[in-house]
Amino acid sequence: MDGPAGAGKSTVARTIAGRLGFLYLDTGAMYRALAYKALTEGVDVRDDEALSELLADTVIELYPAEHGNVEVILDGVDVTEKLRTPQVNATVSQVAGFASVRTEMVARQRVLASQGGVVMDGRDIGTCVLPEADVKFYLTASLDARAQRRYHEMQRMGYNISLARIREEIEHRDMLDSSRPYAPLSKADDALLVDTTDMEVEEVVAYMIEVCRQRLT
Ligand code: C5P
Repeated sequence: MDGPAGAGKSTVARTIAGRLGFLYLDTGAMYRALAYKALTEGVDVRDDEALSELLADTVIELYPAEHGNVEVILDGVDVTEKLRTPQVNATVSQVAGFASVRTEMVARQRVLASQGGVVMDGRDIGTCVLPEADVKFYLTASLDARAQRRYHEMQRMGYNISLARIREEIEHRDMLDSSRPYAPLSKADDALLVDTTDMEVEEVVAYMIEVCRQRLT
């Protein structure tokens, strides 16, 4: 499952994984964990060599947690609550833009997926990480709808950021993710496009599960 920020991928992916008894793998959390580590250790996020060295020395584990959430363990420490801060949001796409970082992340993601029975979400899953996936979706929604969703999410998490700033931040992140030369955000030719702008989560989930059942049986 791929798509831009705030399209509803993680909510939908973890719900579908729960209902189908699959494992949910949030690849964005892996890039966020590396960005977080770089920020806390003072590593320059514009320096791809330094980031690759940092990643080589980094263990990122994803575990299923309550309510279908994912617990992220970085070098043995639970950092789940630290990965959606404005600081990480502002740097993650820079970190994820480097080919050397992506090559290593994609290799790790393929190992995680090799057991089968996974729902994976990100930006390049259908095009690059798992081109042979049984079912591919590309979720999108209008910029306004996506900004509203992120705004409510940030408010629930206790961050006091204006809707206008969030809109700018996701627009900027989408621009970086779509225009990077290596594995940019794009829809795989064989992915089903789902525009969630005017859809409730349950509606999106029901549609996607139906498609999965048809394809997987
Ligand atoms: O999905 P999420 O918003 O948590 O992803 C954070 C960032 O990680 C994205 O904006 C993108 O820069 C990067 N990412 C990526 N490829 C993926 C997943 C995430 O480049 N497969």
